[in-house]
Amino acid sequence: MQNVGGVTLILIAPSVSAGLCQHPLDPMSGVASGGLMIFETKKCCGCKSCEMACSYHHKGVFSPSIASIKVLDTKDRLGFVISLAEQNDGRVIACDRCEGLDEPLCVKYCTERDELQDILKEFSHNR
Ligand code: SF4
Ligand code: SF4
Repeated sequence: MQNVGGVTLILIAPSVSAGLCQHPLDPMSGVASGGLMIFETKKCCGCKSCEMACSYHHKGVFSPSIASIKVLDTKDRLGFVISLAEQNDGRVIACDRCEGLDEPLCVKYCTERDELQDILKEFSHNR
């Protein structure tokens, strides 16, 4: 775990990778300034269905700007990182792990369910 500019960096779900994240977080502009965990992902295709699902879970609308989960292009290499909000910040709503649902909505609509499920487990474990 490392704190950089108020952003908590945590790498990563055991099945995904290990090491400290060194990727620029430029795509985070406008997102929460703190209380985030960042996870590297090897399988995510960047479809952002999880963001849509998450906003629907929270507010019944498709509005990625309020989603707890953000899928960020690393820009300097192929692939994406995933951020999860630990706390409400501006429009961003903290992840509640979809409490009460059999399966988190982001996972339900992800093509890489196992990986995203692992990331959510790590998120809860480190929170
Ligand atoms: S739904 Fe899954 S594959 Fe699509 S962007 Fe989100 S984490 Fe990546
Ligand atoms: S588990 Fe968290 S990130 Fe996923 S849909 Fe639910 S609130 Fe959003």
